[in-house]
Amino acid sequence: MFCSNNSGLYIHVPFCSSKCNYCDFNSYAGKINFADNYFKAMKKEVELYKEYMKDYLIHTIFIGGGTPSVVSERYIFEILEKCKTCFNISDNCEISIESNPGTLSIEKLKAYKKAGINRISMGLQAYQKNLLKYLGRCHSHEDFSASVKNARDAGFENINADIIFGIPGQTIENWKETLSYLISRGINHISAYSLKIEEGTKFGTMEKEGSLVQVEDELDREMYHYAVDYLSEQGLKQYEISNFAKAGYECKHNLTYWKCVDYLGLGAGAHSCLKDVRFSNEVSIEGYIDYLKHGDKPVYENIPLELTDKMSEYMFLGLRLTKGVTGREFFLRFNQDLFSKYKASLEKLEKKGLIEISGDCVKLTSLGFDLANQVFVEFV
Ligand code: SF4
Repeated sequence: MFCSNNSGLYIHVPFCSSKCNYCDFNSYAGKINFADNYFKAMKKEVELYKEYMKDYLIHTIFIGGGTPSVVSERYIFEILEKCKTCFNISDNCEISIESNPGTLSIEKLKAYKKAGINRISMGLQAYQKNLLKYLGRCHSHEDFSASVKNARDAGFENINADIIFGIPGQTIENWKETLSYLISRGINHISAYSLKIEEGTKFGTMEKEGSLVQVEDELDREMYHYAVDYLSEQGLKQYEISNFAKAGYECKHNLTYWKCVDYLGLGAGAHSCLKDVRFSNEVSIEGYIDYLKHGDKPVYENIPLELTDKMSEYMFLGLRLTKGVTGREFFLRFNQDLFSKYKASLEKLEKKGLIEISGDCVKLTSLGFDLANQVFVEFV
């Protein structure tokens, strides 16, 4: 079948075994009893998009959460089968699933493999037990090692680990130990995030009460720069602000977001951007199931994108990538000259040392990566 458009597909699984202290994702502990109705609802949602998606070819699928690995592998298998029946999926589609160490048995991983999943993402977050406990994580690095071994035994070689720096109490030595541990496990993709204290989380409350003090910026940046240098020496090149990979293991799904390719999000709270409209789903599990019980798309917000929105998004998402953006690609997409359109902003940012312009290409400098938000607001 001829498909004129490319897209990504995101599948949200909002169940977790417990809520981590820093987490503000749309995830719920103690609601796994909804899983059966939730996946039934999601199959209906897939059907509702069948016609709409018929001229799209899906190149990447990301099953995220929540913790998709806490639900039975049967649900994952069935929802992927449903998507394969209703949507056009490319033959070499990257299919990732998020998981937590300790939830990945060899049987589960073999079932994932059979379902077509070819990339496993695991939330390690930190090597040290005291830090894992502080974050509210319910696994150890031994669980992580066992899960990596199981994943390899089941035939997975594309494995990502998520880790966090800037945790109160975390030392630079702790951080180095976490990174070298991942290298010793042969992990080929690492996402390293600076801890953000969000309102509505346990850490948010602790900060308000004064029992949590965020780490100094200086230490946060020292950890970040150490990761950039160390991982690069180990063959995992930085390709985005928070992402590092061996050559050929960059996450294709996340690249669709940063390159502003269309994507459909399924599940509670999932976001989509298709045909110049951004829309998001009902957030609660119960509400999401209810919409679909009545045969309705569970969409609660639709935002049509103007040309200016699309151009600014293209800039601030594209600049997250170490490759940056090029005038040529910008012109092909918008039929406008990037350097005239953003002349004043580009001059200002270049003067501040936050971006560098070389020939047709604009990218962040090392300082720009540290102060990325200052760059992005220029394009909003
Ligand atoms: S496992 Fe992930 S999604 Fe679930 S509570 Fe922890 S951080 Fe949030």
